[in-house]
Amino acid sequence: MANSENIIELKHISRTFEDGFAAVSDFNLEVKRGEFVTFLGPSGCGKTTTLRMIAGFDMPTEGDILLDGKDISKLPPNERPINTVFQRYALFPHMNIYDNIAFGLKQKKTPKEEIRKKVKKVLELVDLEGFEKRSVSTLSGGQQQRVAIARALVNEPEILLLDEPLGALDLKMRKEMQIELKAMHDELGITFIYVTHDQEEALTMSDKIVVMSEGRIQQIGTPEDIYNEPQNAFVADFIGESNIFNGIMTGALEARFAGGHFKCVDDVAEGTQITAVVRPEDIEIVKPGEGQIRGRVISVIFKGIHYEITVQSGRYEVVIQSTKSAKVGDEVGMKVEPDGIHIMIAEDHTNIFPVDMNRSHRLEFNGKELWTSLTQIIKGSRRNENGELLDENGEVIDPEKIHISAAIEPQDIQMTDDIDDEKVLVEGTISNLIYKGDHYSYVLNTDLGQDFIVDDEYLWNMGDRVGLILPADKMRFSVKK
Ligand code: ADP
Ligand code: MG
Repeated sequence: MANSENIIELKHISRTFEDGFAAVSDFNLEVKRGEFVTFLGPSGCGKTTTLRMIAGFDMPTEGDILLDGKDISKLPPNERPINTVFQRYALFPHMNIYDNIAFGLKQKKTPKEEIRKKVKKVLELVDLEGFEKRSVSTLSGGQQQRVAIARALVNEPEILLLDEPLGALDLKMRKEMQIELKAMHDELGITFIYVTHDQEEALTMSDKIVVMSEGRIQQIGTPEDIYNEPQNAFVADFIGESNIFNGIMTGALEARFAGGHFKCVDDVAEGTQITAVVRPEDIEIVKPGEGQIRGRVISVIFKGIHYEITVQSGRYEVVIQSTKSAKVGDEVGMKVEPDGIHIMIAEDHTNIFPVDMNRSHRLEFNGKELWTSLTQIIKGSRRNENGELLDENGEVIDPEKIHISAAIEPQDIQMTDDIDDEKVLVEGTISNLIYKGDHYSYVLNTDLGQDFIVDDEYLWNMGDRVGLILPADKMRFSVKK
């Protein structure tokens, strides 16, 4: 049932493009009337695509969009009470400010006097009183963006969509406009859906943040929720600075990670594999031997209000923010209070993928042979003198009638930039990376459409093209007939 508090609801929205690429997958969101909601995520994660579907410029391939509980899928953009402000303001350069703002109303044949009043009102709202006659080219970037906002507001939309509206402005202007936009939102009481890839912008402006990655929602919550209680390693890494470690629960409210034992406040069962998040500001530098772990300072950077200090502790790197400096080469202890540790149950990152039995009754993946014994994988099977595989009844196995899947752990896959290496089974592009203290966790989009998660101690870049080496002796197989 539609909830009457919600102005807009997205239900199981997906958008798959004609080339088969899924830009948005199973997106579910409720937006309350008057709320300031922000879509936050890296470039290419599907923010604009989602906004375009809300505005009516694009259609979902699956799912419904409800406005006040009613399906608006069939409604063209100009019949939706929604206006959009884009990053590129797209003002008409040959028109003055008044005509730019009045353009839409004139097309709707709004009476002249009414247009005049409305334009005056929105110009006041964006702090450009008296600018009616000025030409667009005399305005600064910030002023042009205000005109673009005025042009959207003059239609008195119920929902204003803003797609990285401050992206083209310099830092100082952006900060000013953030404050003004927030004030405008509070004054107008209309619903804002705001898009940004800037986490600080999202945290300071929003009532609710939707964190997105690769077309999927990772977490929905208030800025405080998202910062203090990230639901997974992606969110923890993307929001603010974090130290992220793999670890294990060693007792009641006790965890081991980064080579140390820590008391924590999250009640997770002993023996559970975990991901621990520690914010740099929650680590205190103490004397070596005090605190839970120790190490040697490898870098110190002054950041204006604090120092960012990196410490090598065994094979882990730990980043600390402190108002007190330290010297490179110093031996230090590091102390974290229990409430400075956020424990998440580790996601299962085992890669599972289908492999094929080919016509010569050998196992292959992506057309390349896997050096492993099929008779050991298929229980009761044996080969005849022709090399064919027979089942327990002595019948030749039909490759079409058997389904085999392989499982491999992220740390057992190797990446190489030598794509022609004969050990490479599949090629892919790095689409995501998270630093886990002593290694990086990568997401590889392969040409097969199957993504792989790979752990590697070396730093690769987003967008790097690599070959994946998947050793067959590290795979576990399961068979379905
Ligand atoms: P964002 O706004 O978060 O940066 P977009 O929503 O613009 O991301 O794009 C999401 C993904 O969809 C990108 O990988 C982009 O290349 C892809 N994409 C966008 N439009 C099309 C299209 N018309 N056909 C195919 N892929 C598209
Ligand atoms: Mg975009």
